[in-house]
Amino acid sequence: MENQNTSTINIKSPITGKFLYELHDPSSSDLKKIMDVSRQMQPIIRAMSLEDRIKEVDKIMQYVLNHADFILDQIIAETGKSRTDAYAAEVFEVCDVIDVYKKMAPKVLADKKLPIPIFLMGKKSRQWKEPLGTIMVITPWNFPFYQVIVPALMAFLAGNAVVVKPSEVTPLLPLWKHFFANSGFMKDAIQVVCGGKTVGAELIKLRPDKIHFTGSVRTGKKIMALCAEQLIPVDLELGGKDPSIVFDDINIDRTVNGVMWGAFTNAGQNCTGIERLYIQEGIYDKFLKELVDKTKLLKTSHPDRNTQSPEDCDVGAITADFQVALIEDHIEDALAKGAKLLCGGISQKGSHHIPPTILENCTLDMKVATEETFGPTVAVFKFKSEEEAIQMANNSPYGLGGSVWTSDMNRGERVARALVVGNVCINNHMINEANPYLPFGGTKDSGIGRFKGEDGLLTFCNLKSVIIEKQSDSIELQWYPFTKEKAEVLSNLMSAYFSKPKNWIKFAVNGIKADSIGKKQKL
Ligand code: NAD
Repeated sequence: MENQNTSTINIKSPITGKFLYELHDPSSSDLKKIMDVSRQMQPIIRAMSLEDRIKEVDKIMQYVLNHADFILDQIIAETGKSRTDAYAAEVFEVCDVIDVYKKMAPKVLADKKLPIPIFLMGKKSRQWKEPLGTIMVITPWNFPFYQVIVPALMAFLAGNAVVVKPSEVTPLLPLWKHFFANSGFMKDAIQVVCGGKTVGAELIKLRPDKIHFTGSVRTGKKIMALCAEQLIPVDLELGGKDPSIVFDDINIDRTVNGVMWGAFTNAGQNCTGIERLYIQEGIYDKFLKELVDKTKLLKTSHPDRNTQSPEDCDVGAITADFQVALIEDHIEDALAKGAKLLCGGISQKGSHHIPPTILENCTLDMKVATEETFGPTVAVFKFKSEEEAIQMANNSPYGLGGSVWTSDMNRGERVARALVVGNVCINNHMINEANPYLPFGGTKDSGIGRFKGEDGLLTFCNLKSVIIEKQSDSIELQWYPFTKEKAEVLSNLMSAYFSKPKNWIKFAVNGIKADSIGKKQKL
């Protein structure tokens, strides 16, 4: 990917470096038309029954099932992922999300009856879950299909029109053209607008009703500032530096395999990949040796891969040129400051095929220890006690995910609770993201808001608060005119109701008085 800040971007294969196609930014007038169309779609989508919206979303599922191989080929061409990574996290998961939301949406989006406090006795209260209007989804490059389609379909299910701006690094333009031509999905309800960073900023200026942003902390801050100018609500799903804590009572074989996957799946280009590994001193040498030995057996991406095969490689390519440079910088910085390279490292500068890399003797002045690397690297640390592990893991500006590995389930839960993160696993890593029933999001610099789960669907709704009362000939105690008599009744009602025990007789007498005052005292 080149020329990020210009209006034409060359999309190329990270595996072979070959040119794929040119991406042209839409003009300002095109963007205005897109937002106008989206606004015209709002009342149409809003008027649809949820059942009909679910039928539309089902078309996405059918499209995915009918075209899984085509989708995988497109994703791999632009990201360089291994086929199994792409299959599990992009194609299978999209189907899983749709399957879950078809069941969950009718419950979550239904009107909700809520109780009434004593002061409002006799009235009814409700919460209605209404659409916000147009949701703008801005996505990163690491899961370019899943991250576009999942928030878009959730926002649509909640009754919104949607405009998505995918990453200019992996826009998947041919895939979106094919999707809209072949899926039969409702025209213009979801519009995918490919282009660079300025396209995202320009669209925000056209004031969508909410921004759902997934990307880096740096851009998240810019997006929030842009939204602040127009008071546009925003959810921010940002970066991470996940810690994984391994206690000395674990099954080493299983845990090594789990940690290895948590660190290197998707070539480490995961917001919740393991980047910091804390191993308890009693098993430190044994665990680390096994982890390094097994990691050396993983097949790293190379330019001659047969990307059609599920065994093309274990650890895919690094998608973007700038990400290759960043990962190299982190590894070089660590080695210059005294880290020990146990496996992997940079064999050919600038290559998108970076082998899984494990670094020991890491210290807090190293970038691999503190900054998001977003690559197949893991920085290893030794700890003695539970308290020390928690302190080390929490010593980060990020708070996205984390994991604890132990046979002592009480300790597992205790440590998991102590981690200041949005998502945590005990004896696994990162798979919270694969459960659409669970809300996902970060603490600290890792973001604001929750995505998926019930909360994640409600984030696309105007949660309208409603009070319902029948017409009558009576006015209320707190309405005008204010009189001494009314003030006395209010005071008596309060003292009767909140006394211990409650004085129901005094309450009833004053309730009757309030009623009769309401019927006669009118301005
Ligand atoms: P990025 O922040 O560079 O870009 C994300 C998107 O924002 C892109 O579409 C880009 O074009 C757009 N953008 C950039 N500047 C903009 C601006 N000023 N106005 C409007 N839009 C703008 O992120 P990236 O490099 O694509 O993605 C990697 C980051 O995303 C990592 O930090 C990773 O941890 C994070 N991420 C987070 C999650 C999560 O769920 N928390 C998931 C995946 C990735």
